[in-house]
Amino acid sequence: MEIIRNYYQNAMTTIDSVNIFIDYVEEVLDLEPRQVMLADSICSDDVNSIQYPARAHEFLGPFKMGGLDGFPFTGLTGMGAFASHVPDDGAVFIYYGPHIGITKDGIIGEIHRIGQSKNTGCCGAAKGALNKLMNNQIEEGNITEIDYQMNSIEQILLKQKDRVLNAKIPLLEATEVIYEAIDNRINELVEKTNYNCKYVILMGAVLINSDTEMGSFTHTKRFDIIDLATQERKSLLDEYYA
Ligand SMILES: [Zn+2]
Repeated sequence: MEIIRNYYQNAMTTIDSVNIFIDYVEEVLDLEPRQVMLADSICSDDVNSIQYPARAHEFLGPFKMGGLDGFPFTGLTGMGAFASHVPDDGAVFIYYGPHIGITKDGIIGEIHRIGQSKNTGCCGAAKGALNKLMNNQIEEGNITEIDYQMNSIEQILLKQKDRVLNAKIPLLEATEVIYEAIDNRINELVEKTNYNCKYVILMGAVLINSDTEMGSFTHTKRFDIIDLATQERKSLLDEYYA
């Protein structure tokens, strides 16, 4: 945890973060987990399936919105789909964000995976796009059919080129930039979608994967609830960290 907190001061285990959320749902909202439709927008990397927190399966779902590095590539159609699947008196819960590896020795951008002798990149897509950015290999507006998601991540970084390349740890900054792009897009999608339930709850975070035996951590940056009857939106971050 100390090693993780060198980079992400507010990180906690993903298990703790899920427990806090379930307590909130049951005690404050007076809902059962089976009244909550979970959608996640996280990287399709297999490590995120391996380290998926067990208690998250108490919710309905998950509906998978994310492609490479967690960008919500299922778009407006995806958001509309699970919005129409949620129980009438329930809530939609969207957990989203990019991910980054930190090994137990504190190496950022890598993890040790099951059965391998060497570490590998995490997030591989973010690292690949960053490498291209450093080598001036990203062409503005270049999005191909065969590698559409990767090219989209490249374009996100290209728009913040100086900010990323001048940072002390460029991969950390690139991850922030990707977080902001995901957060903006999720909010835009929420605004354009109709929900037939009581609440929409948004949790935006950087998901931190570590070596197999260490599991994953969450650095939560947004925790908002929208009451759909009143359209009132409030942040629950203070309560979350208390
Ligand atoms: Zn990834």
